[in-house]
Amino acid sequence: MKIAIQGIAGSFHDIAARRYYGMHGDGTGIELLECDTFHDLCQAVQNQSADAAMMAIENTIAGSILSNYALLDTHQLFITGEAYVQIQHHLLALSGQTIQDIKTVQAHPMALLQCTDFFRKYPHIHVEEANDTAAVAKKIRDESLKGVAAIAGYAAAELYGMGILAERIENNTKNYTRFLAISRTPNFTSKDHNKASLSLRVSHTSGTLAEALIVLKHNHINLTKIQSIPIVGLPYEYSIHIDMTWEDYTDYEHAIQELGKQALEIRIFGVYKEGEKNLELTAQKSYAKVIEKTQPTAQAKSDGGKVDIEIDHWKNWVPKAPNAPSEDYLLIAGPCSAETEPQLLQTARDIAALGKTSILRAGVWKPRTRAGGFEGMGTTALAWLKRVKEETGLMIGVEVATGQHVEECLQYGMDIVWIGARTTGNPFSVQEIADAVRGTNLAVMVKNPISPDLELWIGAMERVSLAGIKKLVAIHRGFGTQEKTELRNPPAWSIPMQFRARLPHIPMINDPSHITGRRDKLAEIAQKSLDLGMNGLIIESHLDPDNAWTDAKQQITPKVLGEMLDGLTWRPESNDDGLATEEYTKLEILRSSIDRLDNEFLELLASRMNVVREIGEYKQQNGLEVLQEARWKDLMEKRLSVGGKLNLGDTFIKDMFDRLHTESLETQSSIHSK
Ligand code: PEP
Ligand code: MN
Repeated sequence: MKIAIQGIAGSFHDIAARRYYGMHGDGTGIELLECDTFHDLCQAVQNQSADAAMMAIENTIAGSILSNYALLDTHQLFITGEAYVQIQHHLLALSGQTIQDIKTVQAHPMALLQCTDFFRKYPHIHVEEANDTAAVAKKIRDESLKGVAAIAGYAAAELYGMGILAERIENNTKNYTRFLAISRTPNFTSKDHNKASLSLRVSHTSGTLAEALIVLKHNHINLTKIQSIPIVGLPYEYSIHIDMTWEDYTDYEHAIQELGKQALEIRIFGVYKEGEKNLELTAQKSYAKVIEKTQPTAQAKSDGGKVDIEIDHWKNWVPKAPNAPSEDYLLIAGPCSAETEPQLLQTARDIAALGKTSILRAGVWKPRTRAGGFEGMGTTALAWLKRVKEETGLMIGVEVATGQHVEECLQYGMDIVWIGARTTGNPFSVQEIADAVRGTNLAVMVKNPISPDLELWIGAMERVSLAGIKKLVAIHRGFGTQEKTELRNPPAWSIPMQFRARLPHIPMINDPSHITGRRDKLAEIAQKSLDLGMNGLIIESHLDPDNAWTDAKQQITPKVLGEMLDGLTWRPESNDDGLATEEYTKLEILRSSIDRLDNEFLELLASRMNVVREIGEYKQQNGLEVLQEARWKDLMEKRLSVGGKLNLGDTFIKDMFDRLHTESLETQSSIHSK
C-alpha cells in the first residue's frame, strides 16, 4: 500500500506510518509518497495517488494543527485510526564531525523551539530555519556538507548514515505527537472502535454547547479533546471539534443520535480504535527495528502452529440486508466472473433488489486450470465494480492471487478480497497477499485449498491474521478429486468440521456452487452446510447463467437464488460457537471421515484392478500362466508383515487379500480366454 506522509523517509511521519500501517512492529509492506505540505498529502489521498495517509494533528508541547481538520473537510477524507509517536531529537552531522566543527544547525522551527536549552549551551552554533528535519539530514549526506548539523530522530540518522553528536537534546523529554490515519472511505462500523472525532456547529444562543455536552455526559462518553475552531466566512461563529472515547459502542450510537437532533451540523471525521499510548511502545529506538522484518523468534523457527487468530466478527462490519432470511448468517452472491459492464450492473441490481445479501462477489482475475480460457477482465472490471458499489451500496468482494491484485482492489475501493482455492495451497502466494493487506481495512476470506489439507488452510488464515487482519472468514468450497463424481469438488465434510472443532471462533461459510458444479444440487449442499452449523453461504448468481463465460452450469439467476434461499431451513441459535447442531455431533464428523476414507479406498481398489488387467494382458501376450504361485506367496507374506506393523490383524489381512486375489485371478482368466 502506498501511504502519503508529510516530509520524507526517516521523518516522524514515516515512523508513524510504518508503526500504524505495518503491523506487529513490522514496518514493511508500505511504500511512502513523500509530500511537501499537508495540503499535498490530502490531495494525494483524494485523487488516489496514495491509498491512505498519515498526518500529524497535535503535539503535546506545540498543540494542535487546527488547519488539518479543515483540510480533511475540504478533501472529504476520513480518520480511520491514530498513532502516537514519542518525538526524540538528536543532533546529527556527517560522521567524524565533532560538536566544535558545527557552525550552523538547520531544522524545522518547531524542532528548534523544542531544543532551545541545548543550543543555549553552544552559542557558537548558528541556528537556521528549514522546512523539514529529516530532509536536512538527507541534504547533509547527499552534499557531504561539513559544519552543518540537523535535528532529527534515530530513523533519519540510520537511514542517511549520519553521526549522532548529541542524543536526546529536546528540552522536555515528554514530547509526543499524535498522527491520524487518513483514508477516502470511513471505517466500517465495529464494536472494537472506541474513539471518534467529530465537529459540531451549534446555534449561537446561550446554553446550546452546554446541552450538547450534557448529552455526552449522560451517555457515558469521555471527552479527550474539545476545541473551538473559527468558521471561515462566518466571523465569530465556531465549530466545536471533539474527540471522544467510550467503553460501550451503543453509548456512542445513542449519543450521536441525540446530538444529531441538537446540533445545526455534525461532521463525523471518523470512528476508530484509540491508538496505543503506552509510552514505552511509542518511544522508537531504532529505525532498523521499524523497517526490518520481525526476526523469526525461536518459536517461529519451529514448525509454527502457535498463532492465535483474532477475529472481528462479520456481524460488526457487514450491514444487515433488508430481507435477509436470518441475521445470523453471512450471505454473499454474484457472478463467477465480471464479464461486461451491463452483465455485472444488471446482475448486481437484481441481487441488490432481492435484499437478501449485503455483499456482491465477482471474479476479476480468473484462475483457469487450462491455458487459453477467459481469464477475467482485470482492472477494467474493478472500475465497473466501483460503480456497482456506488449505485447499489453493496459491499464488494473479489478474488486475489497476488500482492498487485490487492493493490488494485484498494485503489478501486473494494471491501473484501478472497484467496482462491488454487492460491491457498501456495504459502508463498498467501504470504505475498498477507503482506499486501497488512495495515489495510480489507476483509479477507480464505477458501480451502484444492487438496484436502487442513493444515494448509489454517496456515493461510494464520498468515493473514499475522498481517493484522481481523475481518476474516473461511470458505468451504470442496476438494479436488481425480474421480468422476456427481459433484465437481466433493465436500469432504469432515475437513471443514475438523477446522471448526479446532478453531470454532472463525466464521465459516459454504460455497455450494463450486462444490456441486451444477445448479440442481445447490440447495441440498447449502442445506447440509447450514445443518452442520456453518455461518453462511457464497453462491454464484448470473443474470443469464447458461451463457455465462465461466462456470455456466452452476450459476443461477438472482430470482432463482431468492427462491432457493427462501426454501432453506435456517437455524439461528445453532451456529454461533462454530459447533454443529446436535444431530451432527462428533459421531457425524467421524462418519464423514469414514465416508471420505472409504471413497479413497474404493478409488485405490479401482486403480489396483486396472493394473491387474494390464498384467493380465501382458501374461496373455507372452504366454504366461495366470496363477504365479511364488509371486502370490511372496506378496501375501509382505502384506502380512506391513499390516502387522499397522496394527491390522493377520486373519483380517489374509481374508482380504485372498478375496482380492480371487477377483484378480477371475479378471485375468477372462482376459486369457479371449
Ligand atoms: C470462484 O469463486 O469463482 C473460484 C474460482 O473459486 P475456487 O477458488 O473455489 O475454484
Ligand atoms: Mn466460479
